[in-house]
Amino acid sequence: MKALVIVDVQNDFLINGSLEVPNSNDVIEPINQIIKNYTLVVATKDWHPLNHVSFSSNHPGKEVGDVIKVDNLDQMLWPDHCIQESKGSDFPITLNFKTIKKIIYKGTNPQIDSYSGFYDNGKIRSTGLSDYLKTNNVTHIDYVGLVTEYCVKFTVLDSIEEGFKTRVILNGIKGIDLKESSKALNEMKSKGVDLL
Ligand SMILES: [Zn+2]
Repeated sequence: MKALVIVDVQNDFLINGSLEVPNSNDVIEPINQIIKNYTLVVATKDWHPLNHVSFSSNHPGKEVGDVIKVDNLDQMLWPDHCIQESKGSDFPITLNFKTIKKIIYKGTNPQIDSYSGFYDNGKIRSTGLSDYLKTNNVTHIDYVGLVTEYCVKFTVLDSIEEGFKTRVILNGIKGIDLKESSKALNEMKSKGVDLL
């Protein structure tokens, strides 16, 4: 069984969002095109409480882009984004999200970030994505979404580790930084991810 996993296609990462990614709206149409080819479509959502550790606003004197240590893990500081129940955390209305069967929420613990849709950054807690897919007999997963060098990369690397045949659909992803994105793609490829 094959599934499509849509990573963090949420208003805050799109044009005019609080963590706007350049040209990110370009992923929506390709996703709408392919979504009907899958009987199982799952989406991840970044889903932060207001006091989330990744928000620079929660660290007086720090700025967006600063890297701090949290429990020995590097934590990049971001603008407030994808706050639970906010408009910024919604899917864009232009995304054909009606066929999404399951939404996996990540980054819900205020103390730790979660780039991967499978585990938090410390790999302490599972989000339930792997169990959900395995329960549905999924063996092959195609990925699209935002952003290439963070949440897409860490999600697909965990996907490989979880034993899924893993592919990334290139016109369905977008990164913040071109160089970092291409580095991330090379890393995915070297770990066995197929890039389409
Ligand atoms: Zn986040």
